[in-house]
Amino acid sequence: MLLKYIKHPLMIAVTLAMFSALGSVHAYRTDHGFLPPGANVCESHVSVSLEVPPNSQAVPDPFKGEFSHGFYHVEELNDGLFYMTDGVYQAMFLVSKRGIIVVDAPPSIGVNQVDSTQSVSIVDVLYSIPETQGLPIKKLIYSHTHLDHIGAASIIQDAFPKVKIIAHWQTQQQLRLGTGELEGLLPGSGTNPPPMPTQIFFKEKRIKLGKQTLHLSYKGPAHEPGNIYIYAAKQKVLMLVDVIFPGWSPFTNLAIVEDVPEYIEAYDEVLEYEFDVFVGGHFNRLGNRDDIIEAQQYILDIKANALAALQNPALFQIFGVAPQNGLGAFSIYLDQMACDCANRTLDPGVTPSGNDWLSRIGNSDINTLTHCWEMGEAMRIDPTF
Ligand SMILES: [Zn+2]
Repeated sequence: MLLKYIKHPLMIAVTLAMFSALGSVHAYRTDHGFLPPGANVCESHVSVSLEVPPNSQAVPDPFKGEFSHGFYHVEELNDGLFYMTDGVYQAMFLVSKRGIIVVDAPPSIGVNQVDSTQSVSIVDVLYSIPETQGLPIKKLIYSHTHLDHIGAASIIQDAFPKVKIIAHWQTQQQLRLGTGELEGLLPGSGTNPPPMPTQIFFKEKRIKLGKQTLHLSYKGPAHEPGNIYIYAAKQKVLMLVDVIFPGWSPFTNLAIVEDVPEYIEAYDEVLEYEFDVFVGGHFNRLGNRDDIIEAQQYILDIKANALAALQNPALFQIFGVAPQNGLGAFSIYLDQMACDCANRTLDPGVTPSGNDWLSRIGNSDINTLTHCWEMGEAMRIDPTF
């Protein structure tokens, strides 16, 4: 029973958190014991766990049986705009009298992690509520190319062959390069890779169906080339996937960022919209303006602390140790720079905002180091910074 219980990824997280309480592990690569005294200058001040601060808690909570369909959840945000989640991924759909517009097709939504025989397809999830009954799926929008967010798109196209698929042109370019060799690795994904977009756009596009409208915008590669903003003005809902994680530290390395300056810029761009609800694509927690402002403070703290670490002369000791292996020394230097930056960021007495991020946002203990590494290295070499 326990084994069955811990098969669910969220249960695995909880179980690991329980075990981690027995002995904390260090998050930083600081154990360069071969270095002479003085060259190994940064030690982690923070141990990691998988505990979730109150501000990061899922709403509704699947562990309390609050999901509307047991192992997945569908909820109306406002005026025909719904979101669906499995607790880890989020997607969105807009219902009009003429049909449905779907944004993203994460393959995990509908998968029952405890009993796979109970799993349903993403199409079943979309038709699990009264509001969608009898309506066709007319349009499908890709937020970006990553398969964990659109890997089930072919299931929607199989059910509705005439569905129009809309994406940024760079998303189309990336999907064209795909070989399909890795298809099937994600549970719940279709037998085919995501279908090619049937409509592309460059900067802005308005998607209309009946009386419902979505505005698509591309502002730069905040996550990857082609990742777009999806805005429902009437409902005051903004979706931007894999950039900002309300209540949480972003996924590792600034959410596997490709362009750090564009990533930082995205926070201001989000705040230019008039929205009440922000859909970030992950976890089971939506965001509001205050969440975005807080998340921005965390990133700006990391930026300031990465600069301070880059200017810390103590970290330069390493370069005198092994002149015959400059690049190896540089890798260690970057680890120590990230360690110094993370220690500063997670110390409320040092970090510029004065916030206690460990008690405020989930996974800051785990991921701040990787954000610092990414930020510091970009500040060092990215000419657009
Ligand atoms: Zn992504």
